[in-house]
Amino acid sequence: MLSKLRVRDLTSSTEHLGKQTVKGWAKTHRRSKNISFIELTDGSCVKGLQLVIEPGLASYAEVAAEVTTGSSIEVTGTLIESPARGQLVEFQVEEFALVGTADAESYPLQKKGHTLEFLREVLHLRSRSNTLGAVFRIRSRASLAIHQFFQEKDFIYVHTPIITTSDCEGAGEMFRVTTLDLQNVPVANGEVDFSQDFFKDEASLTVSGQLEAEIFALSHGNCYTFGPTFRSENSNTSRHLSEFWMIEPEMAFCDLEGDMALGDEFVKYVIADVLEHCAEDLAFLQEREWVEYDLVQTLQQVVDTKCEVLEYTKAIEILEKSGKNFEFPVEWGIDLQAEHEKYLTDEYVKGPVFVINYPKEIKAFYMRMNEDNKTVAAMDMLVPRLGEIIGGSQREERHDTLKERIKAAGMPLEPYWWYLELRKYGSVPHAGFGLGFERLLMYLTGMQNIRDVIPFPRHPGYAQF
Ligand code: ATP
Ligand code: MN
Repeated sequence: MLSKLRVRDLTSSTEHLGKQTVKGWAKTHRRSKNISFIELTDGSCVKGLQLVIEPGLASYAEVAAEVTTGSSIEVTGTLIESPARGQLVEFQVEEFALVGTADAESYPLQKKGHTLEFLREVLHLRSRSNTLGAVFRIRSRASLAIHQFFQEKDFIYVHTPIITTSDCEGAGEMFRVTTLDLQNVPVANGEVDFSQDFFKDEASLTVSGQLEAEIFALSHGNCYTFGPTFRSENSNTSRHLSEFWMIEPEMAFCDLEGDMALGDEFVKYVIADVLEHCAEDLAFLQEREWVEYDLVQTLQQVVDTKCEVLEYTKAIEILEKSGKNFEFPVEWGIDLQAEHEKYLTDEYVKGPVFVINYPKEIKAFYMRMNEDNKTVAAMDMLVPRLGEIIGGSQREERHDTLKERIKAAGMPLEPYWWYLELRKYGSVPHAGFGLGFERLLMYLTGMQNIRDVIPFPRHPGYAQF
């Protein structure tokens, strides 16, 4: 087992001076006649522990030639205050054991930096790199902060299904789940006979847990989901994955105002928590060559700034008057493109902003119709540099209006029977939103490709490991 004290604990103060045993991996190994140095890492922090070894030490001398970058070792010795600059402590090795070798000729991660593209080809090793190591520690901490935020507010955590026979968004971007023999598919009336399939119906991986979360909002008041979602959209972009994690709170007796208030508080809470608990990792990421701005300051700015609210109609006016030559022309009714969002956040508001009340034609059927009969009570939270981070709405709680909206969207009513019934038995105004976890992580870490903030990315053409 790893010792209770990790490299992070040992190196962050002088509290643990004295006899210790440490296990981990050699990052670098420098040998000279009078003294040897090994930087030992164990995944607990970016910086390693400096091991200082007297080359004559028998347990070391026997194996020294085989201690290469990536090999695993166990050492016992004394943690002392370091006379060297730039580190509080160092470790004087008294007993050395080489646990596993890593052939220097073939081990892919040498001490020089690697490109992120290269690291994506070695997913089994990349979490050992400094950059990905930091990203995944932040991912873990942010996950905790998310649960903490909702649990402190007494939201119940719901596990919504991953396999489903209903297409939530009606977007047709679903992965099919089947046990049918693809060589011998049963056919009835010229079509695949799904009644012979495992679930006796067409089943898919979920694209959102929202509709099921609404069930729990109407039984428990406030709830949230935090789980994997799947989209087979063929978007090979730096912001889309085929498998990603989504956080979806849903609140009963809540309108769009309340929804925005929660979204604002939530994003600020998670960012503030990561700023507090992952300062060293953020400082490291800040130094990466692709982060051409002040990462920590940008995050702090979101925490400190009141999120403005802009009506969609007003946002369109602002864009029209901007004098900018957008690639996608602006007129009332369009869906905002990344360039439009960027202008609003980076140049107009200079901070995070909610855009609300979008035209009904560009939003989902379940969003509540406004009195103008043209717009729906939707809200997107846009943040500087990244654009949309949250998409949410007040839900249509009126049975007949909802039914009309499903029909108007050209969708069949039958699969939504239970969703409609929720509007017949104790319906209440309710609202919620979805936040893509990996999009938030890109924001938190400064990583520019979404494939670098999830341990095992899935995208068109790729689902290895
Ligand atoms: P986009 O326009 O970026 O494709 P969307 O409108 O399809 O987003 P929603 O259906 O509103 O997104 O999903 C809610 C949130 O889930 C989004 O705000 C985004 O953060 C995230 N998200 C959506 N699709 C993906 C994806 N393919 N990969 C990663 N995150 C995603
Ligand atoms: Mn999409």
